[in-house]
Amino acid sequence: MNRPYRGRFAPSPTGPLHFGSLMAALASWLDARAHQGTWLVRMEDLDPPREVAGAAQHIIEALAVHGLESDEPVLFQSRRLSAYDAQLDWLANHGFLYPCSCNRQRLNSLGRVYDGHCLRQPPAPAEATALRLHLPAPERPVYFEDAIQGPQRQVPAQDFGDTILKRKDGLHAYQLAVVVDDIHQGISHVVRGADLLDVSARQQLLFEILGATPPRWAHIPVINNLQGQKLSKQNHAPALDLTRPGFNLYHALRLLGQQPPQALESQSPGALLTWGAAHWQAARVPRQPNCTDPLFSH
Ligand code: GLU
Ligand code: ZN
Repeated sequence: MNRPYRGRFAPSPTGPLHFGSLMAALASWLDARAHQGTWLVRMEDLDPPREVAGAAQHIIEALAVHGLESDEPVLFQSRRLSAYDAQLDWLANHGFLYPCSCNRQRLNSLGRVYDGHCLRQPPAPAEATALRLHLPAPERPVYFEDAIQGPQRQVPAQDFGDTILKRKDGLHAYQLAVVVDDIHQGISHVVRGADLLDVSARQQLLFEILGATPPRWAHIPVINNLQGQKLSKQNHAPALDLTRPGFNLYHALRLLGQQPPQALESQSPGALLTWGAAHWQAARVPRQPNCTDPLFSH
């Protein structure tokens, strides 16, 4: 089946754009351009307590400095709450949701797979509850072929269990919103960091339950800092140096396994993006990061 290529970069505004998120943005942009596709930016601003004031605008501006601009207006998830509620209603009406009142302590004692306690013993109506997806066939494995990480297989009952789609605090969960919006935006290809490889199977199931075709997945390696920690907003990865976007793109390309000529290191973002789109080879992207890149000794 051939549908138009539509890709996206979907940052959460919990801090400034850092190098790892630039790599994800660049990889998704390059893959879209190499397929003559459309590339979208979606702001995943669903979790106000974790958000940093001004971060959404900073991310959009930092992307623009690197020549990465959404082909359509940026979609803000905070404006999509009624669409998420509509999908929750549909899931509830079709028997795919159940309320869960378990507290954090009980959930922590279970490890990563929920035991279905509240399905067997429904909480009293007055209790605060989260809503979980009730999987029809939790023993049936989910398969997909990741364009970078290779074949993947997970068994819901062992690997993730009944996912929370609406949180006890009333916020819509990332796992719901990401799928509802990927469907809404007609996303055909998801290129993102391998820290999200593990949640793809559950997202794929939700696509299928909602009657939609799941995207093709590609998970790029997640870059570690010199201490071996993932570069992320949580461990205060430094914001990108916006005075040298060409340099940032040059090293992002190299870490994505592409081989830009050295002379491009000091060029404009436009020159790097043009080279990158013309030479992009997803098959060259390594599964693991290569931390011998000189970027790490600068
Ligand atoms: N908003 C998510 C994050 O920043 C990524 C969502 C996605 O690419 O699926 O981690
Ligand atoms: Zn429960």
